[in-house]
Amino acid sequence: MNYVMHFCRNKKCNNGWIDKDLTNAKVNPPDWKYCRECAEKLGIDYDKQTPTSNLTPAELEHRNKIVERALLASKTRQQKIKSASTVRG
Ligand SMILES: [Zn+2]
Repeated sequence: MNYVMHFCRNKKCNNGWIDKDLTNAKVNPPDWKYCRECAEKLGIDYDKQTPTSNLTPAELEHRNKIVERALLASKTRQQKIKSASTVRG
């Protein structure tokens, strides 16, 4: 498990901390999680937050689209590899 710098989802909050990298963040520090203070204020269980638990329905839909596209792209890639090996074999 990698650890990365996280920023609080609350844009007015400047808290940052090192936490588990659940989104495979390479460049931008993740900000899907509220810091302990903000989570407490909002009545959210800090430890139960997931990369999607705080998303609004619109954000969730947007995320799903990205995931779908990524899946489709990897499927297409696999098919290409398969057909390439069929030609060779
Ligand atoms: Zn915060």
